[in-house]
Amino acid sequence: MTDLPLRNRRAVVTGASRGIGRTIALALAEAGADVAVSARSQAPLEELAGEIREMGRRSLAVPCDVTDPEQVARLAQTVLDAWGGVDILVNNAGAAGSHKFLNHPDELWHHMLAINLTSVYYVTKAFLPPMVEQKWGRIINIASIASKTGAKYIAAYTASKHGVLGLTRSLAMELVEHNITVNAICPGYVDTPMTEANIANIAARTGMSPEQVRRTLENMSPQKRLITPEEVAALTVYLAREEARGITAQAINVDGGTVQW
Ligand code: NDP
Repeated sequence: MTDLPLRNRRAVVTGASRGIGRTIALALAEAGADVAVSARSQAPLEELAGEIREMGRRSLAVPCDVTDPEQVARLAQTVLDAWGGVDILVNNAGAAGSHKFLNHPDELWHHMLAINLTSVYYVTKAFLPPMVEQKWGRIINIASIASKTGAKYIAAYTASKHGVLGLTRSLAMELVEHNITVNAICPGYVDTPMTEANIANIAARTGMSPEQVRRTLENMSPQKRLITPEEVAALTVYLAREEARGITAQAINVDGGTVQW
């Protein structure tokens, strides 16, 4: 038991009800951390918290819409009241949406910025004070290769994810003196419900079969496959470890070599 790398660390994961966030929460618990899990839907959170407790860790299931600063403040209060602090914050909650730029709906623009960028601002701001006080912290933002490259029809998503890198890098510089690292993980297409929805959407628009669309997405990577949530989770656990203290202000791709910077 003593060699668990994240033993006695307290973690929070947003967007943990499914997909990458759920897998990250389980991987952090596997590595020894207590994990508070959050998303809007309560039932899958309760189930996940139960699984984490069965692993012998503490867990809290706290529903929260991360686009609402009042709900975010309540989330932080609930976790901090229960555990007295937090060591690892994983900003994972996010959503994808696409539209050509001609006649782009303003609501889509505002929604993408709110859920993918402003949420990271709100949640980080809410959990930062105890990290500063204890002079130790890990902030890990799940960004995207869309944080580094542009592609057609996803201007709002791309702008929001580029913004996450700007926030990551600036915050990393500001928090160096407090012994807090801030990094971003930039996955390519990951096999999750988000990508399933994406595939269904493209299939409906193009008349391609879902299998053909999936193959097209796979072929966008030199490895010709989708990334698994477990691969993203493994890097998250590593960045949370003491050994990763020299890694900050970075944006690390997990994309099979698609993007090379
Ligand atoms: P999913 O759609 O599978 O899961 C998204 C999670 O975010 C869910 O738990 C959802 O829960 C939560 N969420 C959505 N909106 C809100 C909200 N307003 N408030 C709180 N929680 C919310 O997505 P993935 O697991 O695929 O993606 C996770 C992250 O990884 C996202 O930031 C995404 O942009 C990023 N990413 C994904 C890639 C992919 O190919 N899948 C590639 C690169 C990056 P609920 O609905 O219950 O609120």
